[in-house]
Amino acid sequence: MIVVGAGPTGLTAALELARRGIGVRLLDAAPAPFAGSRGKGLQPRSQELLDVVGGVTDRLVALGRTDLRVRRHEPDGTVRDEPGRDTTPTPDTPWPTTLLIPQWRVEQVLRERLADFGVAPEQGVRVDDLTSDDDGVTVATSIGTLRARYVVGADGGGSTVRRTLGVSFLGETREEIRMVVADVELEGLDRDHWHQWGAPDPVPYSWVALCPLPASPTWQLQAGPLDDREPDDAVLAEIVAARGPRVRLRRVAWRSVWRLNVRMVSDYRRGNVFLAGDAAHVHSPAGAQGMNTGIGDAVNLGWKLAAVLRGADDTLLDTYTAERLPIAAGVLGISAELSGQAMWARTAAQVRTTSQLDLSYRDGPLGDPDTDPDTDGPGPRAGDRAPDAPADGGTSTVFLRRREADWTVLTTDAAARVPGTVTVTVDDPATYALAPGEVVAVRPDGYVGRRGTADEVGAWLAPLLARVQTPAGH
Ligand SMILES: Cc1cc2nc3c(=O)[nH]c(=O)nc-3n(C[C@H](O)[C@H](O)[C@H](O)COP(=O)(O)OP(=O)(O)OC[C@H]3O[C@@H](n4cnc5c(N)ncnc54)[C@H](O)[C@@H]3O)c2cc1C
Repeated sequence: MIVVGAGPTGLTAALELARRGIGVRLLDAAPAPFAGSRGKGLQPRSQELLDVVGGVTDRLVALGRTDLRVRRHEPDGTVRDEPGRDTTPTPDTPWPTTLLIPQWRVEQVLRERLADFGVAPEQGVRVDDLTSDDDGVTVATSIGTLRARYVVGADGGGSTVRRTLGVSFLGETREEIRMVVADVELEGLDRDHWHQWGAPDPVPYSWVALCPLPASPTWQLQAGPLDDREPDDAVLAEIVAARGPRVRLRRVAWRSVWRLNVRMVSDYRRGNVFLAGDAAHVHSPAGAQGMNTGIGDAVNLGWKLAAVLRGADDTLLDTYTAERLPIAAGVLGISAELSGQAMWARTAAQVRTTSQLDLSYRDGPLGDPDTDPDTDGPGPRAGDRAPDAPADGGTSTVFLRRREADWTVLTTDAAARVPGTVTVTVDDPATYALAPGEVVAVRPDGYVGRRGTADEVGAWLAPLLARVQTPAGH
């Protein structure tokens, strides 16, 4: 396997393959990992998806923050704090809040976990061209020609893989909607708030946000609209100094000018090549969805590739586009809705949507055609997120037990068995609304696969299972 691009999407894809014992090379054109903050919100669903790779989410949580409140600095000089959100975990949702953490830190933690499986990104290796045939993919790179059964193109918005495949990237670029994004060190502002300034009339740099990045001396600065000047150190110093008499810029660690670019592909697969993350969809950063959607793509694709490489039916790979394309379309919609809307004006429903906890594959090809996708039955249905729940008489949880194997079967009957799965006895049948004799198969990516009797679930599962079972390798 070759994964192109070692951003959050490529690192997650490589981790999902490597921890299942699949040989993977992770190629990245850049000489070193990206140092800028960019995405700084890790959504609750991403925290759940990464938790199954034991240790990743604990480490991220230790290096991030969930308690930072938005402080609005009004044009008349008054200050108002956004009410804090409830961050209390519940038995079915251990991480209910967006984790504030710079993207470079997420990538660092993923790289460290990937190293546990003997894989390191190969920095400075550029992919220039590729050709997919019946048996695999030939990849032309700056270190020579490589060959792989499958390739994942996670090489970002300007994806060479996407262009080489001729997959169109439909949407629009709005050159006039720009902002400067920078990591800066400064003095004179408290680090317990995400400071935001706005003005009713948008004059240059009337909108400014300064967010302290946890476990780091830096802040992420976002400011707009831009004027004709290059946002160099002098301009950034001016923006920062205008925040208050004691506020001063000390150092600029990274800076970039961001332009609104809203685009997505029409297909995630061409032959044996798959697109994931920004290579497949880009949009406004409002709502903190980009990195998270890339992680979601990688988790959806990773187990399917691993299963097919181990002998499962190849048609499983077609479910990747079918499941993830509607998700990307939805993300483009919510990020457009939130773009230009003040953070403090977000409704509870919008916050819930951006948490990604309600994303579902019910209507996809792995959904259950025998249940009405529009009706909420009791408990999660096929394609819905499989929530956490206490298990094994209070000694474990569903999420913890999911670390042991790709497929788990939840039941109230400890004797229930489905071939190729690990049985988990849930203590709280209410979360899953288990009827007597019913079991729930949970997919390797944490969504409900099927509900039914053990025999029904076993028959449905058989073609999806890898013929060669390997330990999940956590
Ligand atoms: C200001 C800002 C704020 C944001 N806030 C958030 C947020 O809060 N939450 C969120 O989820 N997202 C956010 N995002 C979006 C997020 O940064 C992106 O969605 C994310 O980086 C996408 O990850 P990726 O791995 O798909 O691509 P990238 O991070 O772009 O990684 C692609 C990698 O591919 C490599 N590459 C490129 N071409 C080649 C080639 N030919 N050969 C080999 N390697 C190649 C690159 O070197 C790079 O390392 C924000 C973005 C910006 C700009």
